[in-house]
Amino acid sequence: MMKLLLVDDEELSLAYLKQIVNPWGYEVMTASNGKQAWEYLQSECEPVLAVVDWVMPEIDGIELCRKIKGRAEGHKIYVIMLTMRTDKDGLVLALNSGADDYISKPFHAEELRSRLQVGRRLLEYQYTLACLTEELICANLELNRMVSTDGLTEIANRRHFEERYKDEWRRAMREEIPLAVIMIDIDYFKKYNDFYGHIGGDHCLKRVAQALSQTISRAGDLVARCGGEEFAVLLPNTDNVGAIVVAEALRSAVNQLALEHYGSPSQLLSISLGVAASFPQQGGNSEELLKRADQALYQAKTAGRNNVRSISV
Ligand code: GH3
Ligand code: MG
Ligand code: MG
Repeated sequence: MMKLLLVDDEELSLAYLKQIVNPWGYEVMTASNGKQAWEYLQSECEPVLAVVDWVMPEIDGIELCRKIKGRAEGHKIYVIMLTMRTDKDGLVLALNSGADDYISKPFHAEELRSRLQVGRRLLEYQYTLACLTEELICANLELNRMVSTDGLTEIANRRHFEERYKDEWRRAMREEIPLAVIMIDIDYFKKYNDFYGHIGGDHCLKRVAQALSQTISRAGDLVARCGGEEFAVLLPNTDNVGAIVVAEALRSAVNQLALEHYGSPSQLLSISLGVAASFPQQGGNSEELLKRADQALYQAKTAGRNNVRSISV
């Protein structure tokens, strides 16, 4: 039920008004002065229709309108100024002060009823619009999360990694700080799938992703699944030595999962990691660092897997 607040300092007028509006299907409330009305409206978060008298002690109708419209939630309150004044100047002042409508006394009950209906329509329309906007904002947030997240492992995806990588490359160049990347590939993963099936393989990918992201703790670092059984880590403001330390920690975290893998010579699941770091330069090619990390990963594979190799640029 829509709330209707009647504000008047004259007891008789207020009682008369209340009696008139009572059968119209509103939840009717009264306030005997502007101050009382303002206190009530400040604590109210639902839409309210208000019929406000002009001349009242302390806070008059005009000041009340100004206060209402000055509030962030002011659009949820529809104010009809009900006054003895009949002049155009009064009407202009009331509307300019934030009143939404204006009726002179003595008023015609059916006119008030119709004007209240106009206000109700507007408030209901605004409410629907606000709900829709809220839903859209939530849907948009969820979409943003989805486009940057890998569906299987729920860590960042390649797209997210590439975006962040470009940003971090530019930032590192501006601030003359190093940037490191680690490319990671699960060892003998094809055999893992052959042995444990695709569902077993997927489960293993989730476990590895979890272990990797739990090991990366510094704010600004990013772990992403780049596709298949490949992952990448972005380490802003990290040099080659620091990145090797992180890579070793990641390798050890996966070893500690102690996932059985009968297709691997060690019988345990492991990863190989390629590290590259550089000080990005103006005019330099940002792809170069990624390529180096890939080459380092290839070296880690040919060197026997379950190890870290690095190329410092
Ligand atoms: P290496 O030690 O040289 O990396 O050998 P590997 O078998 O891991 O390398 P390869 O690139 O030949 O095989 C990757 C395999 O990863 C191919 C495919 O069976 C598996 N794979 C890729 N994406 C997925 C996925 O989303 N889920 C599962 N279960 N397996 C995947
Ligand atoms: Mg691979
Ligand atoms: Mg592999």
